[in-house]
Amino acid sequence: MNDILKNKIRIKVAGPAQKIIIQLPEGAANGFPENCEFRNSGGRIMMNGMYFRSIVNIPCEFSVVRGLIVGESFHWEHREDHAFRGSLEIVSTPAGLIAINELPFEYYIASVVGSEMKSECPEEFLMTQAIVARSAAYSMSKKLHAGELFDLCSDDHCQDYRGVLRETNRILDAVNRTSGEFLYYGDDIADCRFSKICGGRTSKFSDAWKEESPHPYMPEKWDCLIGGPDISSLADYVGSDFPHALCSPSETIHKGFRYASRYFRWEMPIPKDFVSGNLASFGFKIGDVLSAQPLEITSSFRIVKMKFVGKKGECILSGELNLRKVMSLSTLPSSSFVLDDKKIEWICRGAGWGHGVGMCQIGALNLAVAGYSHEFILDHYFPGCRIGKAYEYQDLEEKIWQEKRPCYERANCYEIHRCKHGKTGDGPQNCKGDPSVFEKEF
Ligand SMILES: [Zn+2]
Ligand SMILES: [Zn+2]
Repeated sequence: MNDILKNKIRIKVAGPAQKIIIQLPEGAANGFPENCEFRNSGGRIMMNGMYFRSIVNIPCEFSVVRGLIVGESFHWEHREDHAFRGSLEIVSTPAGLIAINELPFEYYIASVVGSEMKSECPEEFLMTQAIVARSAAYSMSKKLHAGELFDLCSDDHCQDYRGVLRETNRILDAVNRTSGEFLYYGDDIADCRFSKICGGRTSKFSDAWKEESPHPYMPEKWDCLIGGPDISSLADYVGSDFPHALCSPSETIHKGFRYASRYFRWEMPIPKDFVSGNLASFGFKIGDVLSAQPLEITSSFRIVKMKFVGKKGECILSGELNLRKVMSLSTLPSSSFVLDDKKIEWICRGAGWGHGVGMCQIGALNLAVAGYSHEFILDHYFPGCRIGKAYEYQDLEEKIWQEKRPCYERANCYEIHRCKHGKTGDGPQNCKGDPSVFEKEF
């Protein structure tokens, strides 16, 4: 039995790094100083001048890890300080120090719901996201970090997890109401996936990842309730407004997610010298890139193989995420794009944000806003699955960190990098929730 079903999970929240700074809660030092600076020292751990062997356990709940990178290599990358429930472990690995947070699984799910989306979403959406996040965590924990000292990482590679500051009482309620509930396909917990905005058409599992076993419950489909448009080419897809898509801006009526609707259809310049450099870092030293040609486009309108011709040679790159990384300094929103060649740069026009497999979060949100139940939403994105309870109900305590999170509702996970406190590095906890910090840009 996986530990998740025993209500315990271990998340890598920092590193590998040469230095990790942790602030323990006031009065709970347990023999540690309140400010601990852990440094990697040749296989041992040095903390404030003292040496430790390869693992240091910090049993204090609500310890804060400083300056964590969020959204690494994506367009929203920034640093935040996160406080964690449960315990922290500092471990020395060959690549540097890592910090692992061990906590009750249901609290982890509450934080994921608040980190991935926002607590002001309708309750039916929060319940949907909780069930999907549980199922995804269970499935990914057996695959993505198999053999490592932890179950999942805290970044988008697995699921976004930002500690106790992302819990709210609304979210804890939704997690309590669905406690222990997973999506099952047959007798197994479904390997659920989700991404922010599908762009109008969801993708198959095999479009994004190697598929070792079939995932019939995440079919490629138009993300709408009334039948899809008559579109057969990538250019027509990217050029279409597709107003009936559940994630289209015309459907995006939840004000907290206006920022996300920009990614239903988007346009950005891509300097060719960035792409040349990115290809070189992938090992393709083909000199200055002259042209890029899609070789394989999925029926969900995503490029999964591309040929690049440079001054010194040519190469072929596969994989939607690889292509998104190569085509941008900070990872392109999706691999559904067309290029307009302008000599030193391309104008890139694209659709959607994320891999598009499984649940479209903004589509699901809009269904909840329109009054659909979490059962309906789950059936729309995961047809053939059923909700099942894997363990008994556990009542999560009300959060106790309310007073320390003044800017959470404004500084949501994708806007905080634009917050003046986020920018100067003094952290969101110093923001007093002043609306003027965001309103000009939001
Ligand atoms: Zn991961
Ligand atoms: Zn969608």
